[in-house]
Amino acid sequence: MKWINRNDSSQNYEDRRGQRSKKGAAIGGIGVVIVALIALLLGQNPFDAVETVNRMTGDQSTEMVVDPATAKENEELKVFTLGVFNSANDVWREIFKDQLNTEYEDPILVTYTDQTTSACGGASAQIGPFYCPGDYRIYIDLDFFHQLDKEFNASGDLAMAYVTAHEVGHHVQRLLGILDQMQQYRGKISETEYNKLNVKLELQADFFAGLWVNNAVKMGIIALEEGDLEEALGTANAIGDDTLQKKSMGYSVPDSFTHGTSAQRSYWFKKGYQTGDINQGNTFNDPSLN
Ligand SMILES: [Zn+2]
Repeated sequence: MKWINRNDSSQNYEDRRGQRSKKGAAIGGIGVVIVALIALLLGQNPFDAVETVNRMTGDQSTEMVVDPATAKENEELKVFTLGVFNSANDVWREIFKDQLNTEYEDPILVTYTDQTTSACGGASAQIGPFYCPGDYRIYIDLDFFHQLDKEFNASGDLAMAYVTAHEVGHHVQRLLGILDQMQQYRGKISETEYNKLNVKLELQADFFAGLWVNNAVKMGIIALEEGDLEEALGTANAIGDDTLQKKSMGYSVPDSFTHGTSAQRSYWFKKGYQTGDINQGNTFNDPSLN
């Protein structure tokens, strides 16, 4: 992937790299990290787990200090990720205006080191990048991209861009009222049924990531290079629930899939990229996902 016209605006960017609480205590405690990690390995939404732990530990607001040693860490990854984030917003602003006849609201990108707080509870590097609908923010510890490379063998710039575009996709779902609809089902349907809905939600965010690639190329923001799509599809494969579960447990448990299988994630990302048409992205109406 090559930038043709990168938008470096920091208007919607909050840099929390290097920040830690004054006491040096981990926000939410080490428990959050462990619980979130277990949740992730089990294919659950780490969000739910973190929320629970946060309620247990209480939200301690502590004074923050900035560690100069890590305040500028991963600077190159930051510039890249911010560029992807801004371009995704530029793409979605157009789609909302032209195809959905409504106005797009920008989310905010937060980069942090090790841990931070969000309206959705404590965040830690171990749970990976996520979107919090409560504060319209996307949280990324940029070290995640090193992990993606090392542990999941998924590297390359379009692979990294895919991750950020997927999170912006969740923000789009928030704006379209899809996350609210999901929330209404919580606790009212069986866990298996809810997980199925969650898979559709995740696959739609993958579709939206593909849609971003298509439109960013069309709008002259990026150009693809040889092997880029394979990279992104490789990432989709690497972080599919079945792969993650096999990696952690040696076998997969389809009932607890919440992100979709590797094949499903690749399929929807590709569909978004190939069609570039938002109307093709209704994963909720796909009978093969029931
Ligand atoms: Zn997601």
